[in-house]
Amino acid sequence: MLVDQFPEGGELWRMTLENSPVGMTLVAPDGRLLAVNRALCEMLGYSTEELRAKTFQEITHPDDLAADIELLQETLAGKRSSYRIVKRYFHAGGKIVWGDLSVSLLRDPDGRPIHFISQIIDVTAQREYELRIAAANRLIGHQRRMLEAVYDTVDVGLVLIDREGHYEGMNRRHHDFMALAFPDGHGGVAGQLGEVFQPDGTTLLAREEMPTYRATRGEEFDDQRIWVGADPITRRALSVSARTVHDPSGEFAGAALAYKDVTDFMRALEVKDEFVASVSHELRTPLTSILGHLEMLRDRTDLPSDASEQVLIVERNALRLGHLVSDLLHVAQVRYGGVQIARTRVDLANLVRDALEAVRPIAGASDIDLLLEAPDSLPAMVDEQRMRQVVDNLVSNALKYSDPGSTVRVRLAASDRRVVFEVADEGIGIEEAELDRLFTRFFRGRQAQQRMTPGTGLGLNIVKAIVEAHDGEVQVRSEVGVGSTFCVSFPLVAP
Ligand code: ADP
Repeated sequence: MLVDQFPEGGELWRMTLENSPVGMTLVAPDGRLLAVNRALCEMLGYSTEELRAKTFQEITHPDDLAADIELLQETLAGKRSSYRIVKRYFHAGGKIVWGDLSVSLLRDPDGRPIHFISQIIDVTAQREYELRIAAANRLIGHQRRMLEAVYDTVDVGLVLIDREGHYEGMNRRHHDFMALAFPDGHGGVAGQLGEVFQPDGTTLLAREEMPTYRATRGEEFDDQRIWVGADPITRRALSVSARTVHDPSGEFAGAALAYKDVTDFMRALEVKDEFVASVSHELRTPLTSILGHLEMLRDRTDLPSDASEQVLIVERNALRLGHLVSDLLHVAQVRYGGVQIARTRVDLANLVRDALEAVRPIAGASDIDLLLEAPDSLPAMVDEQRMRQVVDNLVSNALKYSDPGSTVRVRLAASDRRVVFEVADEGIGIEEAELDRLFTRFFRGRQAQQRMTPGTGLGLNIVKAIVEAHDGEVQVRSEVGVGSTFCVSFPLVAP
């Protein structure tokens, strides 16, 4: 016997139970609490007397009572010798206490039940924690299902890749695009080559240009235009954006890519370009004939003087129309294969001086001071006609978007084996948000439109194409209401 192991006998054993850190009670077969220890009283908020006046049925939550009684009956019936159950108790203050209850039955030598010995461990904190975890899991599950629904419903192809470029998942929409881009299947790793083309629809994308490959290298970008599919009828145009994903320590963990179908938009652009190209082509022939005959008319001496004046007006307008048509043709040409240049020896200083002389009357009429800072001579190998177009377009813009009384400064210089040509005005300026679209075809600034300044939005596109054909670049600095500076620079190819 355990009691015999203590020299002081039963008293010490009783004190041990009384001071046990675990709640303990002896329960009569009918449920009365015969003895309770201090830990149990503290757990349930009663004094010893109060608790002993109760039955276990009274302090058990009704929802857990049936299960407890059933186990207790089975034990009394001898079907089991002990049982264990986690159940809810009522604290004296009304709150719920979760107890992990272990029960065994003490019988007399004849097998008659004496009482139950119950041990109760307070597992409320643990239980609450489990409940909170379960609630959090339910919430996460709900959010995941919502996200999956959104993921599969949106009309945008979505792809997630890990840090090595393996595909972690893609939505339903993207499966359609993958089938077009990789008709022979895809290995699930970024950068695989397929039927993926540049915006021109014919040049295949290289590995480094593939959106997934770029994203795997940590690049973030918007609106990368590609065509997927070899068949011109079924292929789709996509606009791709990529964003990087970081783990909690800030390390690159992968990327998310979105593929938006912009086929209709791209086809509309193509139609517009084709329309512009063919109309301007058709206009050129009659216009050339008109100009030729006007020239012959101008040279005649037998015209009445008022008719001569009218011929001049007609000729001036026909020339304007001619410029417009050649701008349109130029833009179409840029789109289908870039600008071809023919370099000859040109004195750039003369070229700029001539261009300014040509617009000086316009500047004078608008009361704008047109200043030039240039060397006496600057020989270079350039395409003369095209360069003149660059100077004309930039200077005429500066005049067009300036107010009377202001100054336009033109500067030409050569340094570090580069030619620098700069046009600075004190005009209306350009909004910052518009700066990166300035050089796209047909783009016209909001202010330009509000002022109703005439224009087509082609001039700067042409400037950029010509300068790039000379291996150069165009930069612009501008502030609304203060003015704009366009700076062209290209390598000086000496004659
Ligand atoms: P256009 O002048 O025919 O509209 P451009 O391609 O030459 O076409 O210019 C595109 C747009 O850029 C213009 O519509 C205008 O909004 C803006 N822009 C160009 N040059 C200037 C300038 N010097 N000052 C202010 N805005 C300018």
